[in-house]
Amino acid sequence: MNIYNTLTKKIEKFTPNEEGLVRMYTCGPTVYHYAHIGNLRTYIFEDILEKGLEYLGYNVLRVMNITDVGHLTSDADDGDDKMLLASAREKKTVYEIAEHYTNEFFKDAAKLNVRKPSIVEKASDHIDTYINMIQKMIDDGYAYLSNGNVYFDITRVNDYYLLSGKNPDDLMIGVRETVEEDTHKRNPGDFVLWFTTSKFENQDMKWDSPWGIGYPGWHIECSGISGKYLGEYLDIHCGGIDNIFPHHTNEIAQSEAYFGHKWCNYWVHGEHLNDQSGKMSKSKGEFLTVSLLEEKGYNPLSYRYFCLNSHYRNQLTFSWEALDSAENAYNKLRNKIKLLDRTPNLSDKKLDYYQDKFKDAIGNDLNTSSMITLVYDVLKDDELSDFTKLYLIDDFDKVLSLGLIAEEKEISSELEEMIMVKIEERNLAKKNKDFALADNIRDELFQKGVKLIDSRDGTTYELI
Ligand code: AMP
Ligand code: ZN
Repeated sequence: MNIYNTLTKKIEKFTPNEEGLVRMYTCGPTVYHYAHIGNLRTYIFEDILEKGLEYLGYNVLRVMNITDVGHLTSDADDGDDKMLLASAREKKTVYEIAEHYTNEFFKDAAKLNVRKPSIVEKASDHIDTYINMIQKMIDDGYAYLSNGNVYFDITRVNDYYLLSGKNPDDLMIGVRETVEEDTHKRNPGDFVLWFTTSKFENQDMKWDSPWGIGYPGWHIECSGISGKYLGEYLDIHCGGIDNIFPHHTNEIAQSEAYFGHKWCNYWVHGEHLNDQSGKMSKSKGEFLTVSLLEEKGYNPLSYRYFCLNSHYRNQLTFSWEALDSAENAYNKLRNKIKLLDRTPNLSDKKLDYYQDKFKDAIGNDLNTSSMITLVYDVLKDDELSDFTKLYLIDDFDKVLSLGLIAEEKEISSELEEMIMVKIEERNLAKKNKDFALADNIRDELFQKGVKLIDSRDGTTYELI
């Protein structure tokens, strides 16, 4: 497999540290609000990368964190605490906020056929791990205590700016212009590992530490959780491009200071989804969520299809028109597949040919649009029996996860009756503007394996 590595700024052949096994870490969501579909573009790309590696024969051990503490509105050490803002907005504790939005995140991800990583860990569950790491970094001279906070001294590591390719002088100008300089830092670029003196006096999440009661900075959680579950040598670390600086830059500095050697070989970043006014953000009022797509009658998988038609390293601009055409193409494709004759008649002629081409598309820096083109090529190929086409498309869908082959499942009359009653109840709830109840009914059916599909002509369902 060849993949673009942000560290070397080149497409490189991928070789894991241990043959056949990929240790992969992906930064998880900050659970202070719903994920917007931009965030989810990043998780779709990571899902395809994981499944693509599996298709190529690797075992993938993937770890993701849930950021429930330490992330400020600026990715550096200033701004407000995102979780505290949410707690004030919704008049709930930060723990309630974290639990609610973590669940919502995984529900949205499931609707996009994004698989949950094998290990998912909350940042707030690993405080001892961070404390041990920070203490070692203090002992080894990489970190220092100043005015109650513990900072990482970025001048103690070589090549701090290697990943971002940034110029320290330019950065410092930006920093000085936008934020009040923290005079307790040795160097303006130093970052916080542990806060004890903080402007957030009403902080709910705080723990005892050798430096006083406080809480960890955002960056240390990913180094801590990754090291704990994936060890000292990581193969792939992913995230959206905004994570390159400062978050991933700081992760490298800490992890390499702590382990005493190079840590992660491949850094893979996904470009952003923009809306027509620019970068998508959660602070812009109504933002685009999977639920909003559903309310407007779209199948969330049309959005996955929309994302997969562009390369993960290209910016993608969202518009309703673009989603409409993706949904049309996606529905047509599924309908074509539905018409294929399912009578078993598999010929191995050309199976290898198409599977090799699919592997090439994965290996070509995760070329998802070529993977989709191959589905169309298979459908068009007159030399293949319908059953062979189904076999290949089903095989490709292990990676694409577009639900291309709808299973023909049996449905009992009781189940059908229950679904119809629920759809009626939901219609009534919507009519009464009780959208929370309507959503609960939809989620309840989803848990039972029934996916509601709203369209302009009413609500239908599909078994998942
Ligand atoms: P957050 O929940 O803010 O920590 O972000 C979760 C993930 O979404 C991170 O990997 C970000 O890099 C990514 N992300 C943020 N904004 C966008 C966007 N507009 N398009 C794609 N990915 C994004
Ligand atoms: Zn991270």
